[in-house]
Amino acid sequence: MASAIAAVLESAQNFQFREFPLPGVTDDDAVIKVEASGLCGTDYEQYLGGLSFGDGMPIIPGHEVIGWIESIGPIAAKRWGVEVGDRIAIEPIIPCGVCAGCVQGAFSRCQSGLGYGMFQGTSSAPSLWGGYSTHVYLHPRALIHKLPKDIPTDVMTLVNPLSNAVRWVYEVGGAALGSTVVIAGPGQRGLLAVVAAKRAGAERIIVSGTTSDGTRLELARRLGATTVINVDEEDAVARVTEVTGGTMADVVLDVSAGAMAPILQGIDMLRRGGRLVLAGLKSGKLLDEVPIDRVVLHEIELRGVVSGDYQSTELAISIIRENPQALAPLCTHSFALGNVTEAVRTLGREITDGTDAVHITLTSDVH
Ligand SMILES: [Zn+2]
Ligand SMILES: [Zn+2]
Repeated sequence: MASAIAAVLESAQNFQFREFPLPGVTDDDAVIKVEASGLCGTDYEQYLGGLSFGDGMPIIPGHEVIGWIESIGPIAAKRWGVEVGDRIAIEPIIPCGVCAGCVQGAFSRCQSGLGYGMFQGTSSAPSLWGGYSTHVYLHPRALIHKLPKDIPTDVMTLVNPLSNAVRWVYEVGGAALGSTVVIAGPGQRGLLAVVAAKRAGAERIIVSGTTSDGTRLELARRLGATTVINVDEEDAVARVTEVTGGTMADVVLDVSAGAMAPILQGIDMLRRGGRLVLAGLKSGKLLDEVPIDRVVLHEIELRGVVSGDYQSTELAISIIRENPQALAPLCTHSFALGNVTEAVRTLGREITDGTDAVHITLTSDVH
């Protein structure tokens, strides 16, 4: 019987390779040959044992999955509009269709607790619920996106983080032709936010980071940032005032991890009616210095965001298709499944090969 090989996170920081029988497809589901998974901060948190939802361990991680349809039932093929051999991306959440989030049209807020990489463990049949594997099972309610077939694997795995960036900067932030967009934090998603803001037509794209972000700020420039600010050396608010001639920013996106200053500075950088989009987690820290009077008097909008959505993923695919070469410099590392521990430890900066890790791809090659 055909089988899949998966990297199972048995306990914190402990991957074991296990073999699972491939599920037979019914009329209504499919099996995917995994091509690769993109890694993000969540993957590292999960590796450390820090994810507080889902079944816990043992689990096959990998929530940013792309792959090829290996076998599919006739009802499923018709519903998804795909056939064997098609290349697809899988949405991390499997929506229930009936909860408040789903019926309000925001499936990414579905609370059913079903999805890929972070939810069902290996004890939930048929076990193959994560991208750190040669195969995954495609649930009848899964949402998928058809992908172009000719884009290199590592660039194609940018689809999930780029869908976040598109939603945060464009759909929620409202970046448009002529906008001024400030992005605090030149990590993977901050850099992709530069790409999204540029594509949306922003006139000024200002990226801030620290001295340790030197290479990333340079990369931000290559991707389309018009100004980069080293906050260790200059006053970010004064620089935004100068660069905009005092008209200030339409959108500020905070994608910095742990730092509070970008939020307070962001409020000072916005024009009246501007939007502060919050996407950086702060490890549970609280902030009690928010200038509420300024928020009120300047009618500033504060908005938290956690993921992309279906439409932003479709837009991300079209941006990747337009110019894949432009995104290649973001793809700094690619590991085979057999080297999963090295991949995740590189992500968490526990180990380094000397190159700053921006986007890491984990292919399904066992060796
Ligand atoms: Zn992710
Ligand atoms: Zn739901």
